[in-house]
Amino acid sequence: MKPAVVAFGSNLGDREATIRAALDDLASTPEVRVDAVSPLIETAALRLDGVDEDAPRYLNGVALVSTALDPHALLDELQRIEDANGRVRLERWGDRTLDLDLIAMGDRRIEDDRLTLPHPRAAERGFVLAPWLDVDPDAELPGLGRVDALLAGLRASDAAATGEGGRS
Ligand code: ATP
Ligand code: MG
Ligand code: MG
Repeated sequence: MKPAVVAFGSNLGDREATIRAALDDLASTPEVRVDAVSPLIETAALRLDGVDEDAPRYLNGVALVSTALDPHALLDELQRIEDANGRVRLERWGDRTLDLDLIAMGDRRIEDDRLTLPHPRAAERGFVLAPWLDVDPDAELPGLGRVDALLAGLRASDAAATGEGGRS
């Protein structure tokens, strides 16, 4: 069994119930064990053109799993669970009942038609890094460094962009 990190999010319907059902489904998937689940956090929706404060908000979190599946087989299972929970894909980054993304699998590096590992946008997403850090204080994003440092950098640049967080 090898460790993997799965991020989940929902911004339509009964978000929490959908996430609970998805995590139950993941836990009962053969060759997958769910070792830890972060608390859920609520975040504004992110669109291709930036944050949309008017869109339904997300509940996000991260699960640490152990699995004997290879990365593509795990992605198959995540997509099966998305489909089982009414996931429809209309537009990229559009509203959805459930999104399950594979963030990392140990230090595996993959880049093909179906799967990029580590997830290429994880490092810039507080809604992935913060819950991940909650369940693994020593987490590292392969090739990019410690998750605590990445999150601190993200928060510093957000604060600079919004003019918060100190005098200049
Ligand atoms: P984002 O990847 O920016 O979070 P998204 O989760 O909304 O966007 P989806 O519609 O869920 O995107 O997935 C689009 C495709 O991304 C999937 O069909 C899948 O093959 C591919 N993909 C590539 N790498 C990954 C990964 N690490 N985890 C999940 N899906 C991935
Ligand atoms: Mg996603
Ligand atoms: Mg996805």
